[in-house]
Amino acid sequence: MEEGGGEEYLFKIVVIGDSAVGKSNLLSRFARDEFDHNSKATIGVEFQTQVVELDGKEVKAQVWDTAGQERFRAVTSAYYRGAVGALVVYDISRKTTFESVKRWLDELNTHCDTTVARMLVGNKCDLENIREVSVDEGKSLAEEEGLFFIETSALDSTNVNKAFEIVIREIYEKVS
Ligand code: GDP
Ligand code: MG
Repeated sequence: MEEGGGEEYLFKIVVIGDSAVGKSNLLSRFARDEFDHNSKATIGVEFQTQVVELDGKEVKAQVWDTAGQERFRAVTSAYYRGAVGALVVYDISRKTTFESVKRWLDELNTHCDTTVARMLVGNKCDLENIREVSVDEGKSLAEEEGLFFIETSALDSTNVNKAFEIVIREIYEKVS
């Protein structure tokens, strides 16, 4: 984390999770209010910055996207460096992505210290009809691992801003 002039904050937040769970779309929904129906990875985009106001102070959330690196199981340590927040994302319609969460948490713990604000995100909650992971399963994993928990839909915007805002607020409370 870097602190800018006076009351400005810059928080690096990483988004991790299996391929195609909706990480890039959560980010584009949050930063630009856009959704992309094509599953093509947005190669090249490292991070996007979104300004949020907290208690009258300007907070810049610099949210990093893997840009598809996770396909090769090679998310680099540079990706995690300096992160103060993390969204660990799975797809509620694909159980295997939920089963991967522990592996992603292990990777996060390898690269970042335990003070990183963590949120477990069950994305694609609009796909209720083909749900494979119940809300309770998500909640209990989050409790076990000491994470915040939320279900989101980057498609219909449900809870996307809220997910980021909870993490940003948590980081803010730690540093202010
Ligand atoms: P990433 O690989 O984790 O970055 O996933 P993407 O953001 O590229 O999304 C993978 C696929 O899931 C794309 O086809 C998206 O359109 C779709 N997708 C992403 N978020 C949602 C969502 O909330 N609901 C639904 N139904 N589809 C989504
Ligand atoms: Mg992506």
